[in-house]
Amino acid sequence: MTMISGNIQKAIAILNQNDLIAIPTETVYGLAGNIYSEAAISKIFAMKNRPLFNPLIVHIHHISQLEQLTRYIPDKALVLAKAFWPGAMTLVLKKNSQVPDLITAGKDSVAIRMPNHPVALALLEQLRFPLAAPSANPFGCISPTKAIHVEEYFGDTLRMVLDGGDCESGVESTIVGFEGDEPILYRLGAISVEDIAAVVGSVNIKNKEETTPDAPGMLLKHYAPLTTTHLTTDLNESIKSFAHQKIGLLLFSKKIDDPQIVHQEILSENNDLKEAATYLYAAMHRLDKLNLDVIIAERVPDIGLGKTINDRLERATKK
Ligand code: AMP
Ligand code: MG
Repeated sequence: MTMISGNIQKAIAILNQNDLIAIPTETVYGLAGNIYSEAAISKIFAMKNRPLFNPLIVHIHHISQLEQLTRYIPDKALVLAKAFWPGAMTLVLKKNSQVPDLITAGKDSVAIRMPNHPVALALLEQLRFPLAAPSANPFGCISPTKAIHVEEYFGDTLRMVLDGGDCESGVESTIVGFEGDEPILYRLGAISVEDIAAVVGSVNIKNKEETTPDAPGMLLKHYAPLTTTHLTTDLNESIKSFAHQKIGLLLFSKKIDDPQIVHQEILSENNDLKEAATYLYAAMHRLDKLNLDVIIAERVPDIGLGKTINDRLERATKK
């Protein structure tokens, strides 16, 4: 059994042995290892079954560590780091020679963030190295937002989940890279486009696979339940089209009245998109365990974090 524990000293000991643990962050749980250990990093890719072309995010605890990892920092990158760190803002910057190629999938840039979670920060402060930490799930599956989700995925193959409670943001970080000195948004995430624009002005968004050779790994199908999942703007119509099947619903704020429905998950009774993001993956995990024929997910309003939720739902429902 995986040990689920809050013991930071134990976590440090395992990481110092070039082994992996899962760590809590405010976005999702990460599968973490020493960025300078080839053994640890190889194990991250192997355990997740993650393709080697998909680079990893480096987690730091202080803005000064940027200097040890990068060779050029655009002004707006610093502005974003100061505005949103610690937080769900990942910056893609020119790497320096210290950063192993395995981390960056051979690219000349490295993705970095400072997580906003007291346990993750306490851990990072006590280590002599930053941590690479992609989400602690097999490649393509729903991300874990609770320690127990990680245990369900990895069981005996992972020694420890450092317990930090349920993830507060519940969706992955927003990824921002640069073309010249101008920010480009590569992945919608837990910090909204609107919040970023308020700090650095409007940013271009390139989060679709065909437009993002610069952000490998933004695959069309991702974050997916095993159950067939269907995304809709017209619930009644979609329910009709799955007549006589066992249906589960993933809804934004209101239940519906229909005896055919086996189970309904409501993301936010208060119509709050931030709250909906927090509970999105946990709701998907629950629905996926019910042996349904189909999950029908309702598109949420396309503003603020609603854009991120819709992005994840689109990827979850791609064939
Ligand atoms: P995650 O799977 O949440 O750990 O996020 C990793 C994602 O960050 C990758 O799939 C890429 O889209 C992006 N990423 C990481 N490193 C880079 C990089 N050097 N350049 C561009 N995108 C990156
Ligand atoms: Mg992931």
